[in-house]
Parts: sequence; C-alpha cells; structure tokens
Amino acid sequence: MALLEVNNLEVCFGLRKGEVKALRNIDFKIERGERIGIVGESGAGKSVLGFSIINLISQPGYVSQGEVMFEGQNLAKMNHQQLRSIRGNRISMIFQDPMMTLNPVLTIGDQMVECLMEHRTISKQDARNIAVQKLQQVYIPSPETRLDQYPHELSGGMRQRVVIAIGLLMDPDIIIADEPTTALDVTIQAEIMELMLELCERNNVALILITHDLGVVSQVTQRTFVMYAGRIIEQGPTKEIINDAQHPYTQGLINALPQMGVRGKRLHQIRGAMPSLQSVPVGCAFRERCDYAIENCSHNVPDFTESGGCKVACHMVAELKREEQAVKLEIK
Ligand code: SF4
Ligand code: MG
Repeated sequence: MALLEVNNLEVCFGLRKGEVKALRNIDFKIERGERIGIVGESGAGKSVLGFSIINLISQPGYVSQGEVMFEGQNLAKMNHQQLRSIRGNRISMIFQDPMMTLNPVLTIGDQMVECLMEHRTISKQDARNIAVQKLQQVYIPSPETRLDQYPHELSGGMRQRVVIAIGLLMDPDIIIADEPTTALDVTIQAEIMELMLELCERNNVALILITHDLGVVSQVTQRTFVMYAGRIIEQGPTKEIINDAQHPYTQGLINALPQMGVRGKRLHQIRGAMPSLQSVPVGCAFRERCDYAIENCSHNVPDFTESGGCKVACHMVAELKREEQAVKLEIK
C-alpha cells in the first residue's frame, strides 16, 4: 500500500455564479520517503490540491468526489478531531510565507513547545529539548538563544528554517511544501531547498513540493506532475519531464526556463494565459495556446497516453513523438 493515495479527486467551489471545479480527476500515489513535485502556473490548482490533501480547503470549497487515502484511511471523510491527529503530526505543511505558520506575538520556543505539547504528553523541558534539536537539524546557530526570540527578530531565510523545523517537529511521514522558497532571495532559495532535500532523505520523509519553478523540482524531486487548469496533464520521472517533456504545455514551461550559462538566448513565453477555472473551455483546456491543436482538441478532454516512461494527456502525443524522432534522425 502506498503511503498516500489520491484517487479521482475532484474539488468544487460553490460560488454565487455557480459551481466551479477547481480540481478534476486527480490521481497519484506517493511512497514513504519519496519526493514528488506538483508544477504549473499560478491558478492551475496546485495550492488547492495541497490543501485538499489534508482536508483544509475552506468554504465555499469542498471535495465533491474521490478520496485521499493515508495508510488506508480516507482523509476526505474525516471529522475535525480525527484530522487533528494527522495534520501537523503525520502530515505537515510548509507555506511560502513563514508568517502563515509563525505567530508574531509568541517566541519561537513557545510556539514549538506549544505544538509539541498539543500532540504529545511530554514535559515542557522535554519539549524544549526537542525544539533545540530540531533547530540544530536545520542548522540554526545558537538554537537556545533563538528559542527566546520573536519571528521578526530573524531574517527571512532563518524564519523559513524555523518553519521547516516546526514542520519536522512531530517527525511527520509527509511534508507538503507550497512554494517554500518563493519569497526568498535566489541564493537562500537554493540553500533552503538543499536543506529540505537533506532532511527528507535523512528522516525518510515523503515530500510533496508544490511550485511554479521547474528548476526547484529538478533539484529535489524524483517524480513530477504538471498541472493545468485544475488537471494533471503530464506525469513521470522528473528527469524525463525535464529532459524530454512531451505535453506542449510542459514543453512551453521548459522553453521559458533561463538556461544556465546560455546568455542572450531569447526565452519563449507561452502565448496567452491559462483560462480561469470558471471558464475552462470544452475539450483540452490548453488548446487556445497550443500550436498543435487539431479539431478533436476542441471537443474531447484527452486521456493519458503512456509514452516514453511518462503519462501525457494530449491527443497529439504520438505524432509529436514521431516528429521529434524524425528531427533527431535528421540531425544525426
Ligand atoms: Fe494541444 Fe490538442 Fe494536445 Fe491539447 S490535446 S495539448 S490542444 S495538441
Ligand atoms: Mg499557489
């Protein structure tokens, strides 16, 4: 049994104008210690997915279909009390903005101790000792002193380290990290991602990394899921996705990445914008931005096709693959 299994998950928002489907047909599994990336532009539904895994979508959002199985239990059907034993404990979440996790009026130590004592029966002193240990794990210098400081007394990078330490506090099985480094300077971003990778590996923690940044995904994850307008449109080993993306949208994302060491190369932005979830077109949601669209794309949502170790939801995947091979042969 997989550690976490999301089956045919659908999430709706009941708005005044009518129902909006924010997520459709989401299926994936994650094994213990595995690291996966969920990638896409903002508005693709990545964060909604992160929240719905731990049943944290707030009204008017709700899970309208499907299940989220964690060790055989459906999180989507759990009540508040049952969820409390899992959230922050077995599954923890790290957000882009450290201040979403940190309470500005409590010291770092008080927050960590409070969190530990809420989930475990331990003394204040033992909780404090664990807090020190966790701060050491995220390489915070003089952790005892830090415990008595308030969040605003730390730099952005330090604050995010504290958030990671809090995420690890209960020795979770899974960490869901939503754009954990987006608010930080580039150099600190890389350090924090390296740290997360190290900690997940060392503690055998599974990671669901939600990001718009394919560079970050390639640094940290083993498998990648690309989302577009509320659906997963391509999935496979991260290496394959980065080196040989097959869905025209994923290809577009990769072509828009600045290449290390290549100066002056024009970046190709994908034309147009992702449709809002309230007006996702019939058929393939990407078709208005796609150079390969055919008649069928306007009528039918593409199913997944297995191709080169990946699964790709595109009607043209076989043609595109043939074309790519023909080009490769020509170059030879
Ligand atoms: Fe483009 Fe059609 Fe493939 Fe969608 S299904 S990505 S519109 S070719
Ligand atoms: Mg988001």
